[in-house]
Amino acid sequence: QKLVYDFTEGNKDLKDLLGGKGANLAEMTNLGLPVPPGFTITTDACRVYLETGAEPLELRDEVSAHLDALERQMGRTLGQPDDPLLVSVRSGAKFSMPGMMDTVLNIGLSDASVAGLAAQAGGDARFAWDSYRRLLQMFGKTVMGVDGELFDEALESAKRAKGTDSDLGLDAADMQALVDDFKAIVAKQTGREFPQDPREQMDLAVRAVFDSWNTDRARLYRRQERIPHDLGTAVNICSMVFGNLGPDSGTGVAFTRDPASGQQGVYGDYLQNAQGEDVVAGIRNTVGLAELEAIDKTSYDRLLSIMATLERHYKDLCDIEFTIERGQLWMLQTRVGKRTAAAAFRVATQLVDEGLIDEAEALRRVSGDQLAQLMFPRFDEKVADSGTVPRIGWGIAASPGAAVGKAVFDSYTAVKWSRSGERVILIRRETNPDDLAGMVAAEGILTSRGGKTSHAAVVARGMGKTCVCGAEELEVDTKRRRLTAPGGLVIEEGDLISIDGSSGKIYLGEVPVVPSPVVEYFEGRMHAGAEEAGELVRAVHRVMAYADRVRRLRVRANADNAEDAARARRFGAQGIGLCRTEHMFLGDRRELVERLILADTDTEREAALAELLPLQRTDFIELFEAMDGLPVTVRLLDPPLHEFLPDITELSVRVALAESREDANENDLRLLQAVHKLHEQNPMLGLRGVRLGLVIPGLFAMQVRAIAEAAAHRRTAKGDPRPEIMIPLVGTVQELEIVRDEADRVIAEVEKATGTGLTLAIGTMIELPRAALTAAQIAEAAEFFSFGTNDLTQTVWGFSRDDVEASFFTAYLEKGIFGVSPFETIDKDGVGSLVRAAAEAGRATRPGLKLGVCGEHGGDPESVHFFHEVGLDYVSCSPFRIPVARLEAGRAIA
Ligand code: PEP
Ligand code: MG
Repeated sequence: QKLVYDFTEGNKDLKDLLGGKGANLAEMTNLGLPVPPGFTITTDACRVYLETGAEPLELRDEVSAHLDALERQMGRTLGQPDDPLLVSVRSGAKFSMPGMMDTVLNIGLSDASVAGLAAQAGGDARFAWDSYRRLLQMFGKTVMGVDGELFDEALESAKRAKGTDSDLGLDAADMQALVDDFKAIVAKQTGREFPQDPREQMDLAVRAVFDSWNTDRARLYRRQERIPHDLGTAVNICSMVFGNLGPDSGTGVAFTRDPASGQQGVYGDYLQNAQGEDVVAGIRNTVGLAELEAIDKTSYDRLLSIMATLERHYKDLCDIEFTIERGQLWMLQTRVGKRTAAAAFRVATQLVDEGLIDEAEALRRVSGDQLAQLMFPRFDEKVADSGTVPRIGWGIAASPGAAVGKAVFDSYTAVKWSRSGERVILIRRETNPDDLAGMVAAEGILTSRGGKTSHAAVVARGMGKTCVCGAEELEVDTKRRRLTAPGGLVIEEGDLISIDGSSGKIYLGEVPVVPSPVVEYFEGRMHAGAEEAGELVRAVHRVMAYADRVRRLRVRANADNAEDAARARRFGAQGIGLCRTEHMFLGDRRELVERLILADTDTEREAALAELLPLQRTDFIELFEAMDGLPVTVRLLDPPLHEFLPDITELSVRVALAESREDANENDLRLLQAVHKLHEQNPMLGLRGVRLGLVIPGLFAMQVRAIAEAAAHRRTAKGDPRPEIMIPLVGTVQELEIVRDEADRVIAEVEKATGTGLTLAIGTMIELPRAALTAAQIAEAAEFFSFGTNDLTQTVWGFSRDDVEASFFTAYLEKGIFGVSPFETIDKDGVGSLVRAAAEAGRATRPGLKLGVCGEHGGDPESVHFFHEVGLDYVSCSPFRIPVARLEAGRAIA
């Protein structure tokens, strides 16, 4: 098994083996682009190390062979005292992971070779000592585990002593002194000397990359992003080029299109006379890439032409890291670039127009999660611009969205406060991977330094979090937990602020939010507004139209009233998959239900039902009208009873108090008795659904009558009502048969009385394991199945759906027992396999049996793909999820 690949040996399709970075370096090498020579250690090698705690035996020899070849090609050896070859060691997993060790530059430099490097650089001693202190700093921190702040402090104090605020103000002697300081820090903190042997440096750095796969930050990131924990990382060893050799050198990052908006043009940051990490870390302030044209036109033109080549080759937006060494341009990295949701839609349709990809590919390039992000509300511009909420700053719009929360200045507080239900905005001068947990917890992130490619910006975009960065006029003091705005206004920890990741504006106080243009478009209310919003909406429209054209799954809505039904229809719903009738009984009508449940005599019960009937009929008339011509699945009452009865403790106290005053009222006493009688330890497994319908005579008959009469009424009004009647919580076919018989009788009565022929399908929910296991029998009495994956998940796992998220799910997620709650994304192996089997069994009994799902999973992207795959006919979800489900149903095919 080959463990090391030269850059000339790989290609972009080998990401599993070479990681994203390594595979793309190889691809660029083979495209003939200027990539400094080097080689990649495979993820296989890493996996062996992670499993056994030792590098595979053959690794050392293979690395030696590739290093020899590299040395021959470069004409010098690693760390050669008079003319050293230096290399960078960079991690590179299949997926880019900000939580991992990134890079150690200048490996090979030592006391012995620092003078040789100076000679190589034309006698530039300052450069050589600066390179050496960078190596000590990066190696000390990432390989030897020294707290990076100690180096930062030493550098700051050297600058202070010199009276300069830039490292460019330090000369060769200062850098040499810093090297001594840094070595002392390393020795003091680790009890070991910084290794002088170049090969040892390299080997230790490689091992540190392997180890960084399993840091807490990396694990947290993988859980967030649902990246498997067993992939391992590759390691790239690349000959060094230098961006810090003077004004004709520099380093930068670039995007082939704007990753925030998707707009075409030149986007990126450039930092003259600097080395790689300076840009990403946001340490010094960069200039826009366009300014490189003035600085070095040849390199600029070359870069633009390479960017065009890469876009054509990858057929996608690429991001790039490059270095210019004395006028010579080098490509250090490229990858298909991360982008905001808006950019994803715009770029995908632009590329279709440019003929680079087809519409199916455009559909693959966007996701339901991105669409959901675009449907978030944004700040009300009228308020935002009116000055009623004071604007305190303006940074770079790094990741869109509108976030309001309390100011916090460290990750720990962000996590703590958000756990107790506070919305927080994490404010830092700049973020680094240590801030990851706080960024996850925060509504938004605000930094005072760094550009669009700073850590904060890149990570926030990846997470879909609102971020404003580089708000330089704000002074962030993390020690004193405060922010000072121009004019001396001080914002303390806990003060409410609003940040706008689309405009970069920062406000003190809460700015109200308004719906997104994409929602306005779905609502059919669009079209005024900015050019950018216009292009975005057109892109969304095109992608949605294509998804609708290709998808097989139909999309229905969970809606219980005409208003929601109408909205769902505007959003593209093709019917209602679940109308929860218990929602129609809340509010004023709760008392009627209470009377029904408490009725002692037939007369009392019938009176309550008679009062409910016309109310229900009107509900259904309105619903069928809103969904005219489309199916409406009405589910008969399925309340956990306790939701309709007064709280037992409260009522007991009230009665006890009244009794002590000797004015207890008859009604309360009866109520208390009934509440006691009906009280259940486990209401979710209690008298619900079909059980209630079988126990309370006349209840389901009343609902069926209301549905049938409403349908007849709509017919008379020349409408096209398409009701379907659904029986909840069925566990056995006998339950269904009893309800069916009664329903058929009632429907026949209504047909006779109204002189209208009605075709009302009667079906059932499959939401108990027994129903799924006996689906073949149940299908004999059911014309359709709708999988209730909420209850099915609850009962298959034995997880109380109302309690677990707040109790032990966090621990389960942290332990990686699952990457996401099974109430959110369908558990394919368990619950999903029951769905699959029940669907097959049902159809075996009744070919053409209509199958749908109406649990929350119906609007979850990953679950939609699963339901497509098992052959359901439709998914049903809340109105706001409908566009997401439509898109994902299309993506399931594309
Ligand atoms: C379900 O159980 O998945 C379902 C849709 O019903 P409810 O959520 O109303 O229990
Ligand atoms: Mg249910």
